[in-house]
Amino acid sequence: MHVVLVGPPGAGKGTQAQLIAARLQIPHVSTGDIFRENVSEMTELGQQAKTFMNAGDLVPDEITVAMVRDRLAKPDAHAGFILDGFPRTLVQAEQLQKTLAELDENLDVVLEMKPDDEELIRRLSGRRTCQGCGRIWHVVYDPTLVENRCDECGSGLSQRDDDQPETIRRRLQVYREQTEPLVGFYADLGLLAVIDAVGTVDQVTLRAVQALREALSA
Ligand code: ADP
Ligand code: AMP
Repeated sequence: MHVVLVGPPGAGKGTQAQLIAARLQIPHVSTGDIFRENVSEMTELGQQAKTFMNAGDLVPDEITVAMVRDRLAKPDAHAGFILDGFPRTLVQAEQLQKTLAELDENLDVVLEMKPDDEELIRRLSGRRTCQGCGRIWHVVYDPTLVENRCDECGSGLSQRDDDQPETIRRRLQVYREQTEPLVGFYADLGLLAVIDAVGTVDQVTLRAVQALREALSA
């Protein structure tokens, strides 16, 4: 199963990707997570990515595409993958098609997740991420039992540096300008399935699973 999730920041891509990846036993590949790990480990890639990320801009295509190519060549990705946050530009989408062709693989479905802007801002400003297991939480929509402590692994939670009002606005603008055109690209390839991303996490998961089923049986 080769799945891409497309949608604006805060759509719930990471949340759904974690759930679907666990269900299908395939890796969840989040380019944002890989960049953040590199930033916190102060690698060369992290140094290159950091300024773009903090400004809410995209990391340049050549850096991002090379990173994803390496990740998808790893053995665990042979079983399939769920890509979250990649591709984000037409160049990246074209490069992904090329990489998959080299690996003799194809995309099965691209799920577009669509909530409204006000909901995105509410979701992003309350987002918290576990520093241990990476589980995504929300202070109101999906709170932990003990404040700032992950229910699943007990580690502390953190707020992303780019989840601040000004950067959120910039990221939404970048999405509209650079990423939204991918919807037409994948619709033309017959791969697009649109799901309503408003509703509880469980409701959205049901819609995503249904869309995946339909895509596989088509
Ligand atoms: P993305 O990966 O698309 O940027 P996330 O999955 O990180 O988005 O979700 C953003 C925030 O919204 C998180 O705090 C998450 O807990 C919360 N969230 C995700 N899905 C829902 C939902 N269906 N309803 C309410 N909050 C949600
Ligand atoms: P995300 O976790 O998907 O919200 O991504 C956080 C940040 O990482 C983005 O705002 C970008 O700066 C960078 N990033 C993640 N994925 C990509 C990508 N595919 N192309 C370029 N930049 C990316």
